[in-house]
Amino acid sequence: MSAEDDLIARYFKPLASHPGALGLADDCAAIAPPAGHDLVLKTDGLIEGVHFFPDDPSDGVARKALRVNLSDLAAKGAQPLGFLLAIALRKGFSESWLAVFTRALGEDAAAYACPLLGGDTDSTPGPISISVMAFGSLPQGTMVRRNGARAGDLLFVSGALGEAALGLAALRGKLPALAADTRERLVGRYRVPQPRTALAEAVRTHASAAIDISDGFAGDLAKLCGASGVTVAIDCERLPLAGDVRALVAAEPGTIETIVTGGEDYEILCTVPPAKADSFRSAASRADVPVTEIGTVEPGDAAPRLAFRGRPLTLVRPSWSHF
Ligand code: ADP
Ligand code: MG
Repeated sequence: MSAEDDLIARYFKPLASHPGALGLADDCAAIAPPAGHDLVLKTDGLIEGVHFFPDDPSDGVARKALRVNLSDLAAKGAQPLGFLLAIALRKGFSESWLAVFTRALGEDAAAYACPLLGGDTDSTPGPISISVMAFGSLPQGTMVRRNGARAGDLLFVSGALGEAALGLAALRGKLPALAADTRERLVGRYRVPQPRTALAEAVRTHASAAIDISDGFAGDLAKLCGASGVTVAIDCERLPLAGDVRALVAAEPGTIETIVTGGEDYEILCTVPPAKADSFRSAASRADVPVTEIGTVEPGDAAPRLAFRGRPLTLVRPSWSHF
């Protein structure tokens, strides 16, 4: 057995619980989506030095690699089916890094019912690269698109905004001294997202349009509105913020810009026709996911208008872009 085969057998095979993964002993996996269902496909990768710090613990890196993909599936209303993993490691990489990585990945795969189906293992002269390709399914033709929002629909967002962006700012030393528990919570939100898998079915059965917030609330809202040919006015004081985040904004109002543009929230932003709004709220509550109504969709193709404390909020950089 080659060293590569040995790595696959020791670290990845234990995670390949789905019968279609064939114990990672064949060239490909073979799976069938449930009858009458569409496959929903997504890939999102993490590069060392770009998406995570070289000294970040590898269990968090593993969870983030899978969860950022699960967040996209949830925003489309899909349930996870499984995933592929392409990983490139330096020659002489630390085996304990990989052991911790695969243990956490296996825990998440089990927790989100999203088993490892296969993948690829390579060496690289550069930074570690981790690409997850996730597969989900939903009843045929029911994927929630970005382009279905209509004037009069209500805009909802799950959870709370800005925490990952503030966690990253704290890691970069760009925030004032924080209480230890706040700092830990915010950094945790940056390192390990909480995808809203539990909200997927409520989104699928109620939302006219949806997007997951990965690149920043303002930019992702603009993408949803642009795709739907609608606009919206947002009073940022209505955005859901945790108590400690609210306190940071009170102390330094400029923090609101980090919150609405920073990204990595992995919350779901969706529009719901008014007739379905109460049922959506109940479904979200049964799923134990907080949702907040933050505005009403309007006709028009102007960019969304954000205001804070009665003044227009003009953003230097509405969302994250790699280039
Ligand atoms: P091939 O030679 O056809 O490219 P490999 O030897 O790379 O196949 O892989 C053998 C099996 O192990 C395949 O089923 C593949 O999907 C699986 N595999 C390889 N690397 C990984 C990984 N990092 N995670 C999960 N499965 C993997
Ligand atoms: Mg290969």
